[in-house]
Formats: sequence, C-alpha cells, structure tokens
Amino acid sequence: MRISVIGTGYVGTVSAACFAELGHSVICVDIDSSKIDQINAGIPPIYEDGLSELLEKHAGKRLSATSDYDFAVTNSDVSFICVGTPSDSDGNIDLGIVKAASASLGDALKNKKDYHVVVVKSTVVPETTEKVVLPIIEEHSGKKVGDFGIAMNPEFLREGKAIYDFMNPDKIVVGSLDESSGGIVASLYSGLDCAVTRTNPRTAEMIKYVNNSFLATKISFSNEIGNICKKLGIDTYEVMSAVGNDFRIGPHFLNAGAGFGGSCFPKDVKALIGKAREIGYEPELLSSVIAVNEKQPSMMVALLKNKLGSLKGKKIAVLGLAFKNDTDDIRESRSVPVIKELLDNNAEISAYDPMANENMARIFKNIEYHDSAAGALHGAEACLIMTEWDEFKTLGKEFTVMKNRLVIDGRHMLASRDDIEYVGLCW
Ligand code: NAD
Repeated sequence: MRISVIGTGYVGTVSAACFAELGHSVICVDIDSSKIDQINAGIPPIYEDGLSELLEKHAGKRLSATSDYDFAVTNSDVSFICVGTPSDSDGNIDLGIVKAASASLGDALKNKKDYHVVVVKSTVVPETTEKVVLPIIEEHSGKKVGDFGIAMNPEFLREGKAIYDFMNPDKIVVGSLDESSGGIVASLYSGLDCAVTRTNPRTAEMIKYVNNSFLATKISFSNEIGNICKKLGIDTYEVMSAVGNDFRIGPHFLNAGAGFGGSCFPKDVKALIGKAREIGYEPELLSSVIAVNEKQPSMMVALLKNKLGSLKGKKIAVLGLAFKNDTDDIRESRSVPVIKELLDNNAEISAYDPMANENMARIFKNIEYHDSAAGALHGAEACLIMTEWDEFKTLGKEFTVMKNRLVIDGRHMLASRDDIEYVGLCW
C-alpha cells in the first residue's frame, strides 16, 4: 500500500523505514527541510539501532521525503500523523502541532478524489481524534467523514529498541469509527506476527496512556520503596528481585534509581492528569507518580552535598546524559535537573555520554563535555552515574584519575567496592 508519514522524528522515521521494509511505498513529510534532505540521502535524522541500514536500503526506492503535503497525499492512500504532542506550561497536552498537521492534511485532501485514510499515531488524549483532528480535516477538506476514513493507531515502541519493537510488537491497536478504515490500517501490519486489537479511537488513545502511566507508576513505586529501604538499611534490589517473581507483578520496571525521563512517560502521565481534571476527576495516584519522580534527581545532589559539603568550584563528573541507554535523546533526562542543580550550587561539571553529548550541549553550553568516562572523571571530586549505559558497568581503573573517588550511582550500575567510596541512590 502507499503510505505517507507526517512528521519524521523518532516515531515517524522508524515507522516509515519499517513500513518500507514491510513492502509498502512510503513518503515522509516534515516541515524541517534538513530532515527531508537527510532521509532522501538515506541518513537517519536520529540515532536508532538498525535505522541507518533500513534507510540506506529503501531511500530513493520505496522511501522518499518531501515537505509537500499535496504531493504526499495525492501519492498515498493512508497518512499517519506522527508529529510531537508536548506538554504545555501547565503539563497539559499541547495539541498545536497535531492541529497544524491536521489542517495541512485537510487542505491537501480537498482536491483528492480517491478514498484516503488519516491515522493518528501521535500520542493524544482520549477524544482528540474524534473531537479535534476529525473536525479540522472536515473543515479544511470540505469533506465529511465517510468521504475519507479516520483511525487511531498508537505507537508503543521503545527508543533504543524502536526498529525491533516495530517489527516484533506485542500489541497493535487500531481504533476506528468504521470497519473499513480500521481494516485498511490493520492490513498494513499483516506482515507482522501479532494480533491486531480493533476498537474505537478513544479507547485506542486511552490504551496508550494506560500503558505508559502503568509503567511510570511501577517505577515511582519502586523508587518510593527504594527510598524507604535505604533508610532501613535494606537492599531494595534484593527485595524487588523476590517480589518480581510473583507472576502477577513481573520482574520489569522495578529498578529504583534516579527516575524516569524521556519524551513520553513524564508528558503522558501529566497529559492524563490534565485530561482527568478537565473532566472533573482528581487523579491522586498519577499526581504522586510525578511527584516521586521529580524528587529523585534532587536526592542525588543531596547525597553529594552530604558527602562534600559546599559544591562551589568543585568538579563533578556526570556520567550519562541521555534519558536512557542506547539513545541520543535527552528529552526530560534526569541528568538535566541534576546538572541544573549542580550549576545552581556553583559546581563545575565535566560530562560524558556515549551518544548524547552533542544534544546536551544545546541546553548546557558552558559545561565540559568529554569523549570518554575517563576524560570526564579526570580530577573530579565526585561522580554521578545518571544513565544505565552498559559501558558504565565495567568502569574500574577509570576512577583512579579522580581527585576524590566518590561515586553516587543513580542507576545501580556498580557494586560496592574497596577502591571507591560508593553510594547508591536508593540502596
Ligand atoms: P519528534 O519531536 O521526534 O518528531 C516530530 C516531527 O514532526 C519533527 O521532525 C518535526 O519537525 C515534525 N513536525 C512538526 N510540525 C510538523 C508539521 N506541521 N507537519 C509535518 N511535520 C511536522 O516526536 P516523536 O518522539 O517522534 O513523537 C511523535 C509522537 O509519537 C508523540 O505524540 C509521542 O508522544 C509519540 N510517541 C513517541 C515515542 C518515542 O519513543 N519517541 C514512542 C511512542 C509514541
């Protein structure tokens, strides 16, 4: 089938490349011309394992990119909206980009004679597809739903494992108002070994939020337990390892530490809180999930101050800037509030991340960036481990170049040992 993908960020580029791999013809659309040029040249605009190989294989053949909505809509049967849905200043969902993309799609649909299905893949709060996207497309196209199809198909991929997750999903959810547009969207995934859950758009929207909110809740729960365990001198990892053996709980997302970040969990939990309040329900548990998460980074700095006293003029190494391992994405990374607080305390920061130095340098221009852990640790009076990169697990002799070998571990990467003063965040 012929697909257009609107927005070529993490979700859009990965979806486009994977749909091409599944045999579909794909046209990517973005307002950022540098991304268009990169995709047409077979170069991924973001880092994701396996993406470069897929773009190299399909760019210029089954995959192309343009900024021209008319061209993309005319030459495709289905359009996926994959643009960002950030938080506004109150934490509620900001649908501005989705509305702009819907208007452009509607304009492009005006002159199209053939049936076309618009699919919302961006994460949007329940009712958005029906009450926001659909009316905008109707208004701009001059058509009524039925003349075109509308569906909601949330994305569950994990950054860092995005290609694998797209090609090996544990669930595919398609919400539609009518049988035929949902059927068209479901058929796009027929090359994958996964059942498609068919539902209505608002249920599909809710499934995505519940998925992320539940995972975020597991993390904040584990952090709260970790904070209590630490005060009691109990190893929370030993506790959770046993608790996770209960099949009703499972072993995943029980790791205490510096908290969750990324482009999804924080904003999605906040967006669900905002939607609940809009309809007159105060979601106390979800609010606590965010509150616990926001405390964890500060606790890293508090532990550091307990050990070093004033941080003024002291060199602190921050290892890990990406919000998690295997990605260069720093959105809502827990290292951002930590670095801010260290700077507020007049510390000097030397940072290292295997992939995310460049992205973090756009936020913090005046800190030192190094191309190795040893470089960042050189002369440091303490080190904070913020991201669970594999290479941090084997750090050893690198610590010998520190001025003072104090390591505060926010990700349970190291075991306590004699050659460093080791402090775990919640253990
Ligand atoms: P992103 O910010 O990386 O990419 C969005 C892209 O849309 C950018 O390239 C931007 O230039 C483009 N864009 C902006 N306005 C546009 C317009 N009017 N027309 C065309 N393109 C436009 O976002 P992302 O991380 O890919 O997330 C997209 C959506 O998918 C969000 O709703 C997010 O919550 C959801 N999601 C993200 C992930 C993830 O891991 N990143 C996973 C699942 C779902």
